[in-house]
Amino acid sequence: MQLICILCPRGCHIQIQQVKDGEWKIEGHGCKRGKDYAIQEATCPLRVLTTSVWVEGGNHRLVSAKTDRSIPRDKIIESLKQTKGLTVKAPINIGDILVKNIAGTGANLVATRKIDRE
Ligand code: SF4
Repeated sequence: MQLICILCPRGCHIQIQQVKDGEWKIEGHGCKRGKDYAIQEATCPLRVLTTSVWVEGGNHRLVSAKTDRSIPRDKIIESLKQTKGLTVKAPINIGDILVKNIAGTGANLVATRKIDRE
């Protein structure tokens, strides 16, 4: 598997291959963080989910939101399904929890924008 490390601007091209259970051959990384990132990507890739949620009674109709931590990539679709049709009431502050424990990941979906009442 080949990937580009996104942890710093250097953007190392990393090759990772499983040698045997729990053992990896990793080349191209410039530091230990990149090595750990490659193993994470190969075993359980994580992503921060960003989306928008409808707002009722606010000065904007949508509030931007993101998970407060990375979640398994294979939980993204399930998480988005949980936000489909969701409407939250204004006022909303940055960091307010819109969905707790989204898709059972342990992460919360939080607002990233302040919304006042209209
Ligand atoms: S492997 Fe290390 S040096 Fe290379 S891009 Fe990732 S964080 Fe930066």
